[in-house]
Amino acid sequence: MAKCVSCKKSAQIKIAFAPFCESCFLKHYQNRVERLIKKFKLIKEKDKILVAVSGGKDSMSCAHVLSKFRQRFKFEMGVLHIDVGVSDCTNENTENIIRDFCNEYKVPFYLLKIKEYLGLDIKEVSKKIRRPICSICGMVKRYALNKFARENGFNKIATGHCADDITLLFFKNWFSYYFDWIAKFKPIMPSNHPKIVTRIRPLFECLEEENLTYVKLNKIKIAGCSKYSYSVRKDKLKEILKLIDSKKPDFKINFVRALERVEIKVKEPDSIKECIKCGEPTDKEICGVCRLKM
Ligand code: AMP
Ligand code: ZN
Repeated sequence: MAKCVSCKKSAQIKIAFAPFCESCFLKHYQNRVERLIKKFKLIKEKDKILVAVSGGKDSMSCAHVLSKFRQRFKFEMGVLHIDVGVSDCTNENTENIIRDFCNEYKVPFYLLKIKEYLGLDIKEVSKKIRRPICSICGMVKRYALNKFARENGFNKIATGHCADDITLLFFKNWFSYYFDWIAKFKPIMPSNHPKIVTRIRPLFECLEEENLTYVKLNKIKIAGCSKYSYSVRKDKLKEILKLIDSKKPDFKINFVRALERVEIKVKEPDSIKECIKCGEPTDKEICGVCRLKM
């Protein structure tokens, strides 16, 4: 029987080949997030943080671990779930699972329905402009999240992006030959416009498998995958990264830690403008969401 790397008692869990007992794993996980919060000053006293929760293991872990840190770091938090209004993309229990979680941990819960909030039917638009739903959804969610956070007095947005997401997104973008985005692959993206809310990624150094173990050990219910979600879609790059993982289990952690140190000079857009139709920040005359409505 393997021994826990920390206390040397018998280990029940293996993360990236390192054996842990349950209680040392939970400490290890919380310490990792706490160290990141301190190192990058992700949270300041009196912050009002809106945690974006899809209902999956990553964002549920993020909401849970932050709820545990509320007193230590003296901040307030709320949870927002965005209902994109596309039945194929949403698990019908998701809303209830997140609502129950919020009741249990005493976190204010907000539900935003894209159809009502933005008057936008993503499925219709996708048919009209012949673009896949997923390619519209991300942009619309980012827009709604920023607008909602700002309008409701939150000064930070936290997402559940973890080391697996960051590594995968890195390589996806790398092959586009357009590199300005690298500057955004950080645990914190400070606001650079009065209408843009600062974003934090407390799970930047956590692995998907750690988040899954964390929700299991804490008995946190999560929403199952919808058929469009990343983890269900076959993805060649994801398979390649899995192969690297199997040979070099610390690859992703080392990769994101290296990214934290990369300083890249990017050409800032001339200035961030405000959309002439809705007033939201954009680098164009008319923002992406308003263009979908045209
Ligand atoms: P994804 O792009 O689906 O990998 O999601 C990345 C992060 O965005 C998640 O960890 C959540 O924090 C947030 N997110 C994704 N979908 C939603 C949603 N429907 N409602 C609220 N937050 C979301
Ligand atoms: Zn607009």
